[in-house]
This record gives sequence, structure tokens and C-alpha cells, in this order.
Amino acid sequence: MEIFNSMTRRKEEFVPIEEGKVKMYACGPTVYNLIHVGNARPIILFDVLRRYFEYRGYEVTFVQNFTDVDDKIIKRANEEGITAQEVAEKYIQEYFTDAKGLGVRPATIHPKATETMDEIINLVQTLIDKGYAYPVPSGDVYYRTLKFKGYGKLSHQPIEDLMSGARIDVNDEKENPLDFALWKAAKPGEPYWESPWGKGRPGWHIECSAMNRKFMGNTIDIHCGGEDLQFPHHENEIAQSEAANGEPFAHYWMHNGFLNIDNKKMSKSLGNFFTVRDAAAAYGYEPIRFFMLSAHYRTPLNYSRESLEQAQAALERLYTAKDNLSFLSQNGAEGGPNAAEQAVLDQADSFRERFDAAMDDDFNTADAVSVLFEVVRAANKAVSENATKAGAAALLKLVLEFTDVLGLLYGKEEESLDEKVEALIAQRQQARKDRNWAEADRIRDELKAMGITLMDTKQGVQWKKD
Ligand code: AMP
Ligand code: ZN
Repeated sequence: MEIFNSMTRRKEEFVPIEEGKVKMYACGPTVYNLIHVGNARPIILFDVLRRYFEYRGYEVTFVQNFTDVDDKIIKRANEEGITAQEVAEKYIQEYFTDAKGLGVRPATIHPKATETMDEIINLVQTLIDKGYAYPVPSGDVYYRTLKFKGYGKLSHQPIEDLMSGARIDVNDEKENPLDFALWKAAKPGEPYWESPWGKGRPGWHIECSAMNRKFMGNTIDIHCGGEDLQFPHHENEIAQSEAANGEPFAHYWMHNGFLNIDNKKMSKSLGNFFTVRDAAAAYGYEPIRFFMLSAHYRTPLNYSRESLEQAQAALERLYTAKDNLSFLSQNGAEGGPNAAEQAVLDQADSFRERFDAAMDDDFNTADAVSVLFEVVRAANKAVSENATKAGAAALLKLVLEFTDVLGLLYGKEEESLDEKVEALIAQRQQARKDRNWAEADRIRDELKAMGITLMDTKQGVQWKKD
């Protein structure tokens, strides 16, 4: 398996720290708002990455944080007249609603900054003790950037360039403009925690270093995030973790490219964003997921009505194939597989090899999706005449192997059952109106066979699954 490592800027063979295990971390959202479609790109891609490692037999520890204390959260809380914690809790729930809709499984651990305070304070103290950080009279603590020899190594920026580009701000407490805050003294009315440097709260970068160390140790396998996090966020994480732990922080760095709109990065600050909630209302959640998989994760991807409609249509083809194979596995000829079906089943290993080869090549989901469609086309063709129950069932299983790794075809299960049941109930009501008792009984039996029991109540017909 090869991964493009942003640190070395080349594809490298993936060698885990511990055989059969992967420790991966993705920087998660700051919870003050609904996520937008740009934010969904890393969330979906790193979910696929994790699923693929699991499919290849790895045991994965996947940590994704929630930044639940920050200027934007505090601002929002003041606007709404509620506490910062209430804002954060609300948007964490909203995050899970969208993640579930997008078919994204919860991470192994979702730590929150506010629940990692002891570790954060400890880490800051370690950095001070080692001479990598200094408190100032106002109660802030800064990282002494120039002392860390590798600063700039991830984003490939020589320290001189960073120095000349650094913004000189009015804060004259810093020794150097490149120094960044590890701890911020509390301003009046802000949430705060007690620390050796007075009341305050952590800077943004330090939480990721503290969480990595807390849940996965000094060195992890893969650190992920959007391209925009390389500098300064990830550069600062490296400086903090490596200075404190004296060991490499992450073996591989993976960064997704931007989701653009009219060739500009979709972002809150530019105001050119669509929330996942709104996009899902317009197109459905699953087409958004499919759309993200249709391009390689490092290339820019343009969000447009056409691209979402294409994703909808492609998904529809997958669902049609699934429904058809599923129907034939119940209603096809007895026995099987027949020769045509067997011919496709005989190619299963070669399809798997090509699918794996695509994913092994730096997670090329676009090529993996192409292989999936080849499998679907071959299966459709094989069952177009004289399909057998066993042949259709085996082909369905094969298709689902690939969609499971990509986390597709999760969307319609409940919905289609509901729709089917409601439609049958309506037909039965009509039959009863027509006094066609035999037909009404037949429909009741059909529902019974599906495991559905009808209850005639004052509010009308209700149903439940057995
Ligand atoms: P933010 O809300 O800016 O803190 O971003 C949260 C996550 O979404 C980070 O991993 C960002 O890199 C990522 N992200 C934000 N905007 C985009 C975008 N337009 N395309 C891809 N990733 C993005
Ligand atoms: Zn981070």
C-alpha cells in the first residue's frame, strides 16, 4: 500500500508502527456552526481510508477531535445568549446528524478540548520546562518557534521565508513574531480553566498534540486533514509534540485537496459555502458521499449542480442493480449459477485485485469506483436472461463487497421498506373500499411474509416490524 506523504512529497510504502495496527488522527471541526460541503470532504475521505484499512485486516484506532472552546464558539454563545458549552454541544449533535447521513462512522474516539484540559496543561508545562515555551506577564504562554530546528519541514518553507512573511502584530509580549499561543489568558466573560499561569484557555494547536499523546502515544502512523491545515496548524502540532516527546510525531501526513466552487475554495470566510444540511435537502446525503469518492483525494474538486446530479444518477444505477439482483435472488430460476453468471463470478478475484490495486495506489477512490461499475455492468449483463437464484445472490454479494468498503448503498434500506409497506397498505385500503376481500387478505399475507403486522386503530392503519 502506498501513501503520498506530504512531509516527503512522494509516495511511500505504508509500514505500520505495530504490525496489523493503524493509529490515525484527523483534525476535526470547531463546533460553532453546521458543517459545509468543503468540511465534508476530509470527513468522508478519511472514513473511507479507515474502512479500507479495516477491509485489509488492520485494527484501526481513529481519533478525531472536536474543538469545543474557541473565539468563534464564544462569539456565537454571546450572540445567542447561551453558554459556549451549550453552543458546542448543540453543534456536536448536528455534526453527528450530518456524519450519519453521509454514511460516516463515528471515530474510535472523539475527544473534546474541554475534556483534555489536564493533558493540555501538562504538555504546556513540559514545553516550558524544556525551554520551548515561555509565559508572559499577561498570563499567555507562547511557543518559542525558532528553537525548534525542524520548523517549516512539513510545509517546506525555510525559516527565513517564514520570518519575512510573519505578521508583526501589536502584541509585543512575544519574543518573535513566529511564536504562537499555547495558552491564552482569559478575558472578562470568557470561559476559563485554572492553570499555573492563571485563568485561561488553550490555543487551538495544542489540543491536537495533547490528544494524540493521550490516546495514541508519542508517535502515530497517519495524521490527516485538509491542505489548508498544513501551515501553520500541523507545523505547530509537530513543533509541540516533537519538542515535548523527543520522538517523531507522525510517520505519514495526508492532506486532502480543496472542494471548490467556481474554482475558489469553499469557505465560511468567503461566504461561498453550502451547508451539508442544505445540500442534502437538495440532492440527498449519499450523492454527496459518492461525489467526493469520484475524484482522487488530493485533486481539487468542483462543487456544482451538474456534478451532484451526475452523482445522483450514478448512485441510482447502483441501487437499480442492487434491487434487481436482490429481486432475482428471490424470483430467479431454481439452482444455478448458470454459465453466464459463473463467468462473472470467476472474475471476482481479478476484480478484487484491481480494486485493491487502485486503493493501494494512494487511495485512488476514483479508479476503485470505476472497478465497482465494471462489476455492476458485468453482473447486470449476466442476469439479463435466465437468471438463477443462486447466481443472482452470489453476484449481489460480490457487488456489495465493493460498496461496503466505500461505504455506499447504505441510504435506502429503511426508506424503501417504509415506502413499500405504505404502498401496500394503501393498496389494501383500496381493495377493502372495493369490497375485494380476497385481495385485501392477500396483501395482509404479503405484508405478514415481510415481517410486518398491521393494526387497525382509530387513527387508521398502523404497522410494526415483527
Ligand atoms: P475549518 O472549518 O476551516 O476549521 O475546517 C475543518 C476541516 O475542513 C479542515 O480539515 C479543513 O482543512 C477542511 N476544509 C475546510 N474547507 C475545505 C474545502 N473547501 N475543501 C476541503 N477541505 C476543507
Ligand atoms: Zn489538529
